[in-house]
Amino acid sequence: MMKVVKFGGSSLASAEQFAKVGKIIHSDKERKYVVPSAPGKRNAKDTKVTDMLYACYALVEADEDFRVPLMKIKDRYDAIINGLNLKLSLEEEFKKITENFKNKAGIDYAASRGEYLNGIIMAAYLDYEFVDAAEVILFDKDGNFDADTTNKVLAGRLAKLERAVIPGFYGAMPDGTVKTFSRGGSDITGSIVSRAVQADCYENWTDVSGFLVADPRIIKNPQPIKTITYRELRELSYMGASVLHEEAVFPVRKAGIPIHIRNTNAPEDEGTWIVESTCQQSQYTITGIAGKKGFVSVNIDKDMMNTEVGFGRKVLSAFEENGISFEHMPSGIDTMTIFVHQPEFEGKEQAVISAIHRLANPDSIELEGDLGLIAVVGRGMKSNRGTAGRIFSALAHANVNVKMIDQGSSELNIIIGVSNADFEDAIRAIYDIFVETQL
Ligand code: ASP
Repeated sequence: MMKVVKFGGSSLASAEQFAKVGKIIHSDKERKYVVPSAPGKRNAKDTKVTDMLYACYALVEADEDFRVPLMKIKDRYDAIINGLNLKLSLEEEFKKITENFKNKAGIDYAASRGEYLNGIIMAAYLDYEFVDAAEVILFDKDGNFDADTTNKVLAGRLAKLERAVIPGFYGAMPDGTVKTFSRGGSDITGSIVSRAVQADCYENWTDVSGFLVADPRIIKNPQPIKTITYRELRELSYMGASVLHEEAVFPVRKAGIPIHIRNTNAPEDEGTWIVESTCQQSQYTITGIAGKKGFVSVNIDKDMMNTEVGFGRKVLSAFEENGISFEHMPSGIDTMTIFVHQPEFEGKEQAVISAIHRLANPDSIELEGDLGLIAVVGRGMKSNRGTAGRIFSALAHANVNVKMIDQGSSELNIIIGVSNADFEDAIRAIYDIFVETQL
């Protein structure tokens, strides 16, 4: 057995947090490859080192003095080094960084130093080998991640090392220029490393005990999700549930490696397993509920719409012309409705309406804004009768008016449209009927 472990910023924000991480790693000898993030927030008012680096580099770009903010960053690392009693100095590294900043090494280079320096500390603390991600995580000349070359190079390099620390979040382009993934991208590095070493498990350590059935800001102490499939996760993350970077699933999914989300501050908690497929039933018929506010429905009516070949295409091209992507498209016999994001749509609404008139010649178009979409997701829905019935009777009891229903053919999720004002009540009603009542 071999595990790759990735630790998020809050797990590495201070010497105390490092000590917890060290304990976790040493408690299981299978934890051989470690991917650290940059130090995160130590408390609610604190600033992540990555954000400090972005701010510092903004001064570099404006040709302003950046030495004081850079020294503040160094202080963060020195506090960790001293707190761990390490004999390590980052003096030389900071000299190099200062020099490279003066030479305008780029915003990605600047941001990547957060993980790079934390990786050096982590390697010293664990006495593991340090592998600079710039040598093994590779992007092509256009800045796209090069999965195949990376896999070859990384697998070759790590085959020679029994234990190693590989900083998250960045890699390099063919000319050596440092390039980062999007924010939160250390999750992706962890996944790439797991694939390269063909790990049995990718442990992703963070500050929550895995995914929860519903948003804790809406439901008090929601139940954790023990096991979730990649497809369920995709549906829930798309609707706003965020614990893991969305792109992090692809490398491990390809290699059939499960992800185990765990809590550095509560290592005894079970966490959430993210798997390709499972024969385990989810505990509550549904696996999770997530949702987003801020949608508009564009309702289009035309008599005999059902007989007109190409009507849907013409309507959709009105959205395409205006660069708007749609979310859902439930339809009736003489009506169709398109759901779009309100902020994206608002400035272009009249242009879209006139384009629909021009292209599809409908009888009428009506807009309704301030809608929320809720996704009820669960692999168990396929084999359980009455799920939809239970959802809608719960919503009726809670006095929530359902504006739209959409169930995909995969029967993995049911999407429900409600007004923004009913959004929280609707989620509470659905959670209650499936989790609290546990029928
Ligand atoms: N440190 C980076 C960020 O704050 C990457 C990461 O933590 O995954 O986005």
